[in-house]
Amino acid sequence: MKGVKSKIKCPDCGAEIKHVGVQVGDILECRECGTEVEILSLSPLEYRELIEEK
Ligand SMILES: [Zn+2]
Repeated sequence: MKGVKSKIKCPDCGAEIKHVGVQVGDILECRECGTEVEILSLSPLEYRELIEEK
């Protein structure tokens, strides 16, 4: 399995989000602002911001 070299940047604050070992469908949370990002694809790396409904 090849390592994912691309970086995920928080869509909200631009901080880098660690994503070692993530899989498609995983939800990552930005440590800086708490924005959640869903992994859509690993090759190429694609992700989108999750809009939290309250
Ligand atoms: Zn952020």
